[in-house]
This record gives sequence, structure tokens and C-alpha cells, in this order.
Amino acid sequence: MPFTDDSKRFQRELKTMRAIISLYCCREHGGRGICPHCQELLNYAENRLKNCVHGEASKPACQNCQVHCYSRGRREEMRKIMSRTGMRMALHHPGLTLQHFFDCIGKTGKKKTSAP
Ligand SMILES: [Zn+2]
Repeated sequence: MPFTDDSKRFQRELKTMRAIISLYCCREHGGRGICPHCQELLNYAENRLKNCVHGEASKPACQNCQVHCYSRGRREEMRKIMSRTGMRMALHHPGLTLQHFFDCIGKTGKKKTSAP
């Protein structure tokens, strides 16, 4: 059964994905918010997630998934992002990772409002 837009699982996965990519972009690209390149990757990931063949009931974590629905290039990119941001940490300590993420975004957010 495919995901529906209001599926909790879908929303949670998407939120995590967005958090990880934002964190990565914030650290690696140093921009305010998500840069266009990372936004595009996020859109791609969202699309893949929506079309995940496992769907609501049986979806494994993407990095454990046997069905490689990402194109080769995208997969490499995601793998790089996961390794840089510590996907393991996100899985085992979601609160900690999100706190990190909010710290990161919070700082850039403040900068954004005071910037000319
Ligand atoms: Zn970026």
C-alpha cells in the first residue's frame, strides 16, 4: 500500500529527511536555509518516498532497503549526507540530532532577520 500524504509514517520520514538535509546544507554549504541544490535533492527524496514500493506497512529504513529506488548519483549523494550528519545518531538519538539541527538553523535564522 503506497503512502498517503497525511500518513504519519510518511510525514515523519519526510521531516527527518528534511532535518538531515537542512543540517547538512547548513554545515557544508553554509547558506541560510536550504540551498537550491539541496532543496532539489530533498524534492527528489520526497518523490521517492511517496513512490516507495513498500509503503506504509512494511517500509524498512531507506538505507536498509533492498529496492534501490534512488538513481546511482542521488544515492551516492544521500549516502554522503547521511554519513556526514550521522544518520546513526539520528536513528538512535532523534532528539539530540534535532536539537543540533535546531541550534544550527536557529543561528542562521537570527542572522537572516538582522541581515540587510
Ligand atoms: Zn546545500
